[in-house]
Amino acid sequence: MAEAIVIGGGLAGSEAALQLAKYGIKTDLYEMRPNKETGAHKTDKFAELVCSNSLGSYETTNASGLLKHEIEILGSELMPEITESKVPAGGALAVDRELFSKKITQKIEENPYINIIREEITQINPNIPCIIASGPLTSEELSKNIKDFLGEEYLYFFDAIAPIIEKDSVNFDKAFYMNRYNKGDADYINCPMNKEEYENFYKILVNSPRIELKSFEKGAKFFESCLPIEVLASRGADTLRFGPLKPVGLQDSRTGIENYAVVQLRQDNKAASLYNIVGFQTNLKWSYQKELIHAIPGLENANIVRYGVMHRNTFINSPKCLNPSMQSRINSNVFFAGQITGTEGYTESIATGLLAGINLARYIKNKPLLILPQETMLGALTNYITFEGHSSFQPINSNWGILSELNADKKIKKNKKLRNELLAKRALSSINNVLNDTLL
Ligand SMILES: Cc1cc2nc3c(=O)[nH]c(=O)nc-3n(C[C@H](O)[C@H](O)[C@H](O)COP(=O)(O)OP(=O)(O)OC[C@H]3O[C@@H](n4cnc5c(N)ncnc54)[C@H](O)[C@@H]3O)c2cc1C
Repeated sequence: MAEAIVIGGGLAGSEAALQLAKYGIKTDLYEMRPNKETGAHKTDKFAELVCSNSLGSYETTNASGLLKHEIEILGSELMPEITESKVPAGGALAVDRELFSKKITQKIEENPYINIIREEITQINPNIPCIIASGPLTSEELSKNIKDFLGEEYLYFFDAIAPIIEKDSVNFDKAFYMNRYNKGDADYINCPMNKEEYENFYKILVNSPRIELKSFEKGAKFFESCLPIEVLASRGADTLRFGPLKPVGLQDSRTGIENYAVVQLRQDNKAASLYNIVGFQTNLKWSYQKELIHAIPGLENANIVRYGVMHRNTFINSPKCLNPSMQSRINSNVFFAGQITGTEGYTESIATGLLAGINLARYIKNKPLLILPQETMLGALTNYITFEGHSSFQPINSNWGILSELNADKKIKKNKKLRNELLAKRALSSINNVLNDTLL
């Protein structure tokens, strides 16, 4: 009889099941492939990489690279196989995807604590401790059941998301803080455009190519209230000026100039280091998004930490229903991991799978759950997705902006390379302390 269940043998579920096994927990791992396909996966293997074969940087001075080092220290079971399946790819950690998923499949199949069940789960059984790691393409039946379990408002399906930028890269000689009609505090950052600047922006926008949709995404209906900017722009040159780029009530008190259009940025994290571009959901190719954003006055040098993307994406409203330990607030037997929690990316999925696996094992063994400090990349990610103050929660990947602030003078903070080196050093020392104090 299984002590735990893991739903989904993707990146998060594979890591979680192997962690549970490491702690001696008998686990049933449910994977619906090959009986039922997701539309994106091509094989019946565990831990399949659905798109690119690159897991991003492995340098500690890169946010995703730092996360990899953190999970290696915490004992990730997937990381050694990633290293062993490595292919040359410059600074990126890319793998032979077939070799990698073959190795993970073998590791799982040979593990005496893991029982593989090739079935679709359509209903959660909260009486048995479980981890839901069914990914962004969770089957329809299970999605419905998760929705019922968490409550109607707790499951989102979004097609397009807006880019996020680092506040430190905004040029405040041009941008200014203000709420429309000066209502309340000056929460928004506003980037004003004159007619000529808007026309230039519009020209780039309508001439930028979109990312080709996958076959299973074609025909996806947009929400009328959440249309990609390129779709709005195709309806006419002024549509955006009467929509998300509306200038009324946003006059810069420094200049008193009536603006032709205004791009607004909204705070995206507690530390106010990240801002998303309001109403800017897009599916343009990333290099063109960059060109477009850099054509906005005040954002000429904007550092983009997340680009707009569009694909079917099922994710729960983690700020409302998850704790930073990955345990659900509604039922302590139920944990979530992977992209379904609103963390974005391969490494992030492995990382949250690792944390959920460790914590479910600790929960079963009556040990206190692990909540990682916000000075670590994994701790910052889990804090970000479970922070209740988001005005609109959207998936995020690892980035420097979510870490707790560095205690250093301004000169050091302005030197990005040095700042990142110090942040990484602090994060790794913190993870080592967690390992020595809690896990060993
Ligand atoms: C089309 C697409 C392309 C992406 N490309 C990239 C990329 O290039 N780089 C990147 O970093 N990230 C990418 N991502 C984002 C994300 O990193 C991946 O989706 C990643 O695989 C998520 O890991 P996961 O473990 O959460 O989910 P998955 O790896 O998708 O694993 C979930 C597993 O659950 C199974 N499952 C689903 N429902 C059920 C059920 N009811 N019962 C049993 N099993 C079930 C699925 O078959 C699947 O094997 C992409 C996402 C999508 C959708």
